[in-house]
Amino acid sequence: EWIDLSQLAEQAVRRVELKAKEKGLQLKLQLSGDAYMIRGDQKRMEQIIMNLLENAIRYTDEGEIIVHVEFTADAATLIVEDTGIGIPEEELPYIFERFYRVEKSRSRQYGGSGLGLSIVKKLVELHGGKIRMMSQPGAGTRCEVQLLNLSKSEYM
Ligand code: ATP
Ligand code: MG
Repeated sequence: EWIDLSQLAEQAVRRVELKAKEKGLQLKLQLSGDAYMIRGDQKRMEQIIMNLLENAIRYTDEGEIIVHVEFTADAATLIVEDTGIGIPEEELPYIFERFYRVEKSRSRQYGGSGLGLSIVKKLVELHGGKIRMMSQPGAGTRCEVQLLNLSKSEYM
C-alpha cells in the first residue's frame, strides 16, 4: 500500500489539535523536501504518528510540539519534537521496552501503561525503518523515525 506521509501527519495533527489547545500547547506541522509516497501500512503508520504525538502532548506542560516531515533522496523522516519534561539520559536506553515507564511518581502524574513506544518501535521496524529518541530533562524530547527510501518497494 502506498502512503502519503505528509497527509497522515496533517491528519494526526488535526486529531490532537483540541487536546493540545486544552493544555495551552502550540502545535506546528512542517513539511520539507519534495514529498513522495512511501510503501507501508497506512493504519500502522497512523499508529506510529499518533503514539508519538500523544506522548509529546502528555509529557509537555508548556511550549510547543513540532511535527516535521522531511523528504530527501535517501529517506523520509518523521520528527516529533516537544518542549516537555524530557527523559533522563540513563533511562533513554529502556524506553522502548514493554511496560517501561520513567519514574514512578511521574507515572502517577501523567498516566499511561508504558506500551506505546514498544509498539511504535516494532511498527517502525516492520517498515524497515529506524527510530531514535533524543532528550534533555526539563528541555524537551525529539523522536526521529527514519523510513528508508531504499525499502520503498521491499517491505510489507
Ligand atoms: P502508553 O503509551 O502505553 O499509554 P506511556 O506513554 O507511559 O504509556 P510509552 O509511550 O511507551 O508509555 O513511553 C514510555 C515512557 O517514556 C513514558 O512513561 C514516559 O516516561 C517516557 N516518554 C515517552 N515519550 C516522552 C516524551 N515525549 N517526553 C518525556 N517522556 C516521554
Ligand atoms: Mg505513550
